Amino acid sequence: MRSTTIGIPRGMLYYRCETLWKTFFTKLGADIRVSEPTTYRIAEQGMSLTIDEACLSLKLYFGHVSELIGKCDYIFIPRYCNFGRNRDMCSRFHAMYDMAKNVFRSSGQKFLTCNIDVLNGESELKAYLSLGQSLGCSAKSTLSAYKTAKIADQRMWKEKLKVQKDLLDKDGLKILIAGHDYLIRDAYIGKPITDFLEKNDVLPIEAGIVDSNAAMKRSIELSPTCKWQLSREILGGITMYRDKIDGIIFLTAFPCGPDAMVNELMLRRIDGLPMLNLVMDGQNGTAGMETRLESFLDIIRFKRGML
Ligand code: SF4
Repeated sequence: MRSTTIGIPRGMLYYRCETLWKTFFTKLGADIRVSEPTTYRIAEQGMSLTIDEACLSLKLYFGHVSELIGKCDYIFIPRYCNFGRNRDMCSRFHAMYDMAKNVFRSSGQKFLTCNIDVLNGESELKAYLSLGQSLGCSAKSTLSAYKTAKIADQRMWKEKLKVQKDLLDKDGLKILIAGHDYLIRDAYIGKPITDFLEKNDVLPIEAGIVDSNAAMKRSIELSPTCKWQLSREILGGITMYRDKIDGIIFLTAFPCGPDAMVNELMLRRIDGLPMLNLVMDGQNGTAGMETRLESFLDIIRFKRGML
């Protein structure tokens, strides 16, 4: 394959699949270009490109796509529909590729996609083989790149779980952040929150850093009917970590359909733990948010006899 630059927007599943994608494309001989961490300018750009009804995560994502236009041969936007029965992705993940093609139709930019839709016979392996084919690579080299990428991905997850376990074993206040990693890790949205917690000697724990299969099983204890893969992992994380934490922050992008239902359910079903629901719309500055976080930490410290 001739040297091809593949752009990856720093949003949505990037935080989950970074290692998988980078290893796969690099093994196929491509160069990778990832958009820079979110800034106010990128967020504003994304908001100007999307309709009001789009969730904040999608708006940010479009800001990142826009950053890559004209700077790479292809921009990679996979279409994730489901990983099987009751393992659905929210409809934004089905639509992102087609939306980007439409929004940037006059830019001349090429996009690269693949379909993961297990319920309709489109497995992950099939999706990656199709990606290799789109890039002109042989089935053999694509399969080899996919296997290497999967091993690297599994290693990365093991490491993440180990770091999480070490954090849970530490002394001190721990707050579970129940939200999508693309919000928690985002430099403009989630990072100020985790930074604030750390500055106040609180360890932030991510509900989504969890063994996925175990979490899917445990999620049933809180909701037997939830069908969204990412929400089920977070529910499972809450169930698995709830005895080791001092409080929960639900972090949501406005207007997220799955979170609106799941978080409301959790706020009613979980007893005995202080909980805070933070809905981010990209407009609310950090000042108001810090006041709410401070009050929340005071409540936890008061309950623990630390005030
Ligand atoms: S799950 Fe919510 S935050 Fe994530 S893409 Fe869907 S609507 Fe947006």
